Amino acid sequence: MQINRILLHYAEVALKGENRREFELQLRRNIKHRLLRGGVHWPVRPGHNRITVRIPKAPSADVFEVAATLREVAGIASVAPAVFLSRDDIRWSGEPSQPHPIEAIVVEVARANWQAHASFAVRVNRGDKRFPLRSNELARRLGAAIIERTDWSRVDLSRPHQSFYIDIYPEGIYIYGHRLRGIGGLPVFTAGPVLSLLSGGIDSPVAAFLMAKRGCRVDFLHLSATHLAPEALPENLVGRIAKRLSTYTLRSRLFFVPYTHFDLALLDQPPSGFEMILFRRFMARLGTRIVERQGGQALVVGDSLGQVASQTLENIVCHSQASTLPILRPLIGLDKQEIIERARAIGTYELSTEPYKDCCALLSRHPRTKSRAHQLEQLEARLLPSYEALIERTLADMQILTFDAGELIEVNSSQRALSCDE
Ligand code: ATP
Ligand code: MG
Repeated sequence: MQINRILLHYAEVALKGENRREFELQLRRNIKHRLLRGGVHWPVRPGHNRITVRIPKAPSADVFEVAATLREVAGIASVAPAVFLSRDDIRWSGEPSQPHPIEAIVVEVARANWQAHASFAVRVNRGDKRFPLRSNELARRLGAAIIERTDWSRVDLSRPHQSFYIDIYPEGIYIYGHRLRGIGGLPVFTAGPVLSLLSGGIDSPVAAFLMAKRGCRVDFLHLSATHLAPEALPENLVGRIAKRLSTYTLRSRLFFVPYTHFDLALLDQPPSGFEMILFRRFMARLGTRIVERQGGQALVVGDSLGQVASQTLENIVCHSQASTLPILRPLIGLDKQEIIERARAIGTYELSTEPYKDCCALLSRHPRTKSRAHQLEQLEARLLPSYEALIERTLADMQILTFDAGELIEVNSSQRALSCDE
């Protein structure tokens, strides 16, 4: 018995009607891309509502490690390393007294997964209705064979410790004992491109992840208090967060921009309490300019309603008014604890809680919770009279890091657009 396939089921892709082909194609490309980045050259094949990865006879990588990386590919609902038997392998006489050939394999899988004091269930999915035995009948026979020929002794159909799965499809049968949950969602690059603002905090990486999980191509923008030499960029905290996120986003650029000019413009001014909202409007305008030049359809931020003074509804409205682009806020209704749980699950929490001193110069002791657009426009006209020039000077200091499926591949890359279907 050799595990010779990784069986992948889609998430919502199956529901996508006419676009379905395109979604499936992109999902396969993303899977291949993710495998190739890890040095794995195994063939990836389509099927109805499923994709299979064929494992060669002498696999070059650990099958369960490969399966774990595929869990992180958006669009995949479940990942199962399986023993596959083709139609030819499973000819059965149809004689009720004869054991079905899959019985021997299921018994072997059951033996290999034996746990003391544990219960089990057999789950049959008869995707090919031409298969001669009904699901219940087959499950019953296989369960009986496991009890008779292995040390498993307790069946529990509602909450078993271990399930053994048998998926019957026209091309053959998949048998497996582990089905790992994927992140679900839609394949990246099937929705439009967005620019996601990353602060180095806990929230913004989760917001970027959620957009990738809905199929967007995601680039990142970080405004940094300090200038960094190109060789220092990869070690920068936000650089490392972007690298981690790129395991999901696959191809992403991080636009790294020091905001010194903005800082200097406000430096000698008496505190107004509006510094943070002015800064957020500045980031929105800068992001909009980058999107105009580099491509994109919307900005993304990690706001959660009322989390801090700059995220009251009034301030969010004023923030949105600074940009002609939609500003998406995928975390708006989540509270901090929910965001933290998601950050842990995607592997950015540890990074985001490392000390990172950044926006401190802008912090006001009494930030305003209410603002109005005309009030801010007046302030901007007074404090930042040459706004356009400020944006251009700031952009002149921009550096770009390009990531690909968890690797940094270029610092200060050319400005060409990236996508996975090149
Ligand atoms: P995070 O929201 O990531 O935990 P935070 O809570 O410290 O960080 P806020 O001050 O709440 O950040 O900012 C709200 C959002 O504004 C962030 O989620 C992020 O999208 C954006 N943002 C804030 N600071 C920066 C920055 N320096 N560069 C890019 N985006 C930023
Ligand atoms: Mg926040």
